[in-house]
Amino acid sequence: MSLNQKTSPTTSERLTALFAHRTTRMKASEIRELLKLLDQPDIISFAGGIPDPAYFPREAFAEAMVKATGEQAASVALQYSTSEGYTPLRDWIAGYMSRYGISCSRDNILITAGSQQALDYIGKIFIDPDDTALVTWPTYMGALGAFNAYEPRYDRIDPQTNRPVEAVLADAEEAGGQVKFAYLSPDFANPTGITLSEEQRRTVLARAEALDCAVIEDAAYQELRYRGEVIKPILALELEDKGDIDACRTIYLGSFSKTLSPGLRVGWVVAAKPVISQMVLIKQAGDLQTATINQIAISEVAHSVFDSHVATLREVYGGRLTAMLTALERHMPEGVSWTNPDGGMFVWVTLPTDMDGAELLQEALKANVAFVPGAAFFADGSNRNTLRLNFSMSAAAKIEEGIARLGSVIRSQL
Ligand code: PMP
Repeated sequence: MSLNQKTSPTTSERLTALFAHRTTRMKASEIRELLKLLDQPDIISFAGGIPDPAYFPREAFAEAMVKATGEQAASVALQYSTSEGYTPLRDWIAGYMSRYGISCSRDNILITAGSQQALDYIGKIFIDPDDTALVTWPTYMGALGAFNAYEPRYDRIDPQTNRPVEAVLADAEEAGGQVKFAYLSPDFANPTGITLSEEQRRTVLARAEALDCAVIEDAAYQELRYRGEVIKPILALELEDKGDIDACRTIYLGSFSKTLSPGLRVGWVVAAKPVISQMVLIKQAGDLQTATINQIAISEVAHSVFDSHVATLREVYGGRLTAMLTALERHMPEGVSWTNPDGGMFVWVTLPTDMDGAELLQEALKANVAFVPGAAFFADGSNRNTLRLNFSMSAAAKIEEGIARLGSVIRSQL
């Protein structure tokens, strides 16, 4: 073989050299690798972020699918449909939103393939390279993954610190772009479990007004409240002030993944009509529409069992949250602290500052317990002494056992 042949790039190297610049920001997710651990029976995994399949409304879905594939119904359910989404489902969602003080018409609602698709659309609509996206610190890593493809710069949205608006704007301008939106999950956030008070939500809105940017309200966990009073969504607060959803800067992302089924991939967006129209154009160009039969099945099941099913989930997951908080109290050594969520699926743990969540995971795996190291949830990979624990997937006895294991691993590392 000649020297020339040896050093010339392979076809696959040449191919990857052709990839667009945006692909350099796309990284494999630590969490996806960890999800594989769920299959090993000895491991107690607090690493997932998924609903317990034992509580899927399986029979209601089976009935809905049989109905949808009946002789008459199949001509609709197996056919193409509109990009905006299945009308009876959008109407159900309009009724559901009004429970939370958001009155909107079907024209303000787009059905998406999960809220993850909506996050991609948000990136596509708003972010030019070097624009600034404000995110919480930590934030949902799937949102960072979706936005990264559009090459944003990240800055911190933090209702407590209140950095002067002028400074935030000046930094964005210096980076070569504009502040486009603030993304946050006000109820039982992933990964912290923290909920914003009404006052904090109003502060976010006032800041967004001053920055003249959009607010992206990710309500993925909103229904999973186990204690305390419902706090109005940011969109509801803005609507109270402005009186017209088409005058609102908040874009609300909903999902059926945590209530009915994540596998069917059905979520929704509620926003001012110009935002919805732009998203419809993106959907037409991207995947035409969300799967018709999936929307029909979700619509049927939402109409028939949504409330009773969510009541069951609240009882089951609420018990698991209590079990986790009790076990943490019992087994964590001094110097370790954690959040005290009112709902959702996660508790966020802060270790002593010199400990590293990723290193701790290596030790924890030897003791057959898993979690997600916290650094991946920070746009700058900081705060390595943190970790996320999921409690929706394990029964109380397993939670007690897993946290006991984790406590002794942490103790041995102190
Ligand atoms: N937002 C948050 C905060 C999430 O935790 C998730 C799922 N883990 C999503 C959005 C995406 O959910 P889906 O696409 O299944 O609706």
